[in-house]
Amino acid sequence: MYDVAIIGAGVTGCSIARELSRYNLKTILIEKDNDVANGTTKANSAIIHAGYDPVPGTLKAKLNVAGNAMFDKITEELDVPFKRVGTLVVAFCEEEMEEVRRLYEQGVDYNVPDIQVLDKEALLEMEPNLSDEVVGALYAPSGGIIGPWELAIALAENAVDNGVELKLNAEVKDIKKLDEGYEIVTASGNVKTKYVINAAGLYSDKIHNMVSTPTFEIIPTRGEYHLFDKSEGDKVSRVIFQAPSKISKGVVVLPTIHGNLLVGPNAEAIEDRQGIETTREALDFVAKQGSKSVKELNFGNVITSFAGLRSKTPENDFIIEESADAKNFINVAAIDSPGLSAAPAIAEYTVEILKELMGELEENKDFNPIRRPHINFIELSDEEKAELIKKDPRYGRVICRCESITEGEIVDIIHRSVGATTVDGIKRRARAGMGRCQGGFCAPRVMEIIARELNKDITEVVKDRNGSYILTGPTKEN
Ligand SMILES: Cc1cc2nc3c(=O)[nH]c(=O)nc-3n(C[C@H](O)[C@H](O)[C@H](O)COP(=O)(O)OP(=O)(O)OC[C@H]3O[C@@H](n4cnc5c(N)ncnc54)[C@H](O)[C@@H]3O)c2cc1C
Repeated sequence: MYDVAIIGAGVTGCSIARELSRYNLKTILIEKDNDVANGTTKANSAIIHAGYDPVPGTLKAKLNVAGNAMFDKITEELDVPFKRVGTLVVAFCEEEMEEVRRLYEQGVDYNVPDIQVLDKEALLEMEPNLSDEVVGALYAPSGGIIGPWELAIALAENAVDNGVELKLNAEVKDIKKLDEGYEIVTASGNVKTKYVINAAGLYSDKIHNMVSTPTFEIIPTRGEYHLFDKSEGDKVSRVIFQAPSKISKGVVVLPTIHGNLLVGPNAEAIEDRQGIETTREALDFVAKQGSKSVKELNFGNVITSFAGLRSKTPENDFIIEESADAKNFINVAAIDSPGLSAAPAIAEYTVEILKELMGELEENKDFNPIRRPHINFIELSDEEKAELIKKDPRYGRVICRCESITEGEIVDIIHRSVGATTVDGIKRRARAGMGRCQGGFCAPRVMEIIARELNKDITEVVKDRNGSYILTGPTKEN
């Protein structure tokens, strides 16, 4: 019997798993997909919000600022790319400046560090490519950008290295209440556990309803984006929000952690929990709104578009508590924005709830917070590169030409404790296929490497989710 079973390996579940690996507990992380970070965690704005805007008294307000402050340490320990580039909330008229000043006062109340209100001149000095129509902004230097799936993968890897079991391809179909604990029925075998943590994102209400009468309903709310080539990456140096109006929170323009430019999202409530297709209408809206903030965005340099789904509820706050009628079953649900920014604080908060239920937990004396760093070949000095190639010639073979990713890096990420098994798994961990050609050149080579390293037939290699085959069979006989 496990002590704790966490359902859902997005950034929430992975953060909780890592936090629990600090203690002597038998913990399992259960995920329906074939990889971690395959839900909302893989498609969002990737901003570590400073935390001035959640409504007072909410969990969002409490956990955003606290989570933000934890990112320097956590990203250093886990070798995850993170930059405090700062965020700007830009106003285009005096009415919006009032909102900027309100957010400033709120940020001061929440102890957001070093925030300030900028006038037009100071703002344009910082960001010369902003529209001439801007009148001022709120500046929060503690806001940052991150690789969201890189964070979740690193958290999962560190959790597994510290003793957590990861069960992939294990969709939870049902949960039975036992005299003590629960039996979780999954697509790949049952799991008995004393405590359950429901971190199933868009499906967290469905998971909750397996043990309890319904108390909340997730409304998937889609946001769509344009991702630009690195040639546009220096259009802005900081995250550019628009002052929120009564109708919209505005579209964001920001540099990504790997030097691209991202413009989005819109917000559209939909019914389909898997509805991550993009639409012409939303992408046009996003382009128009983004161009309001930043001059001369060249949409000819968009390399891909994508959509993500927020797990919203009408109450617009995180739900982190023991279920009222299911003892020892803790919901960590409705984790929409700023869920990424709050993730480390959500994990600590959840473990505090567990401690109240379980009593003081015994520390795992062997807990190692440090994850073995990735070798980023392109960033090595010429001497280091030559030395590495001498030791392992696979670092001398460039597979992804856009991002300069070598075979050595790809092989390393396949054989890590939460290793990549799919083409997109490689893309998310090593960036092969993230560049301008979007995998047009390197995907066949990546597939060959996956097949060879995992001892599979190449036709079995999938793009992303189970069943997303790329090859179906030979087009001609030899
Ligand atoms: C458009 C958009 C923009 C955003 N921008 C930001 C931002 O800039 N900053 C920020 O802080 N936050 C942002 N967010 C919010 C942030 O992305 C989320 O809060 C966070 O990713 C939620 O992570 P999660 O682990 O709770 O959910 P998910 O990542 O969805 O993980 C849930 C996991 O549960 C699994 N699962 C579901 N059902 C089952 C089942 N039956 N059995 C087993 N496993 C199951 C899923 O496969 C999934 O892997 C944004 C969100 C969106 C959509």
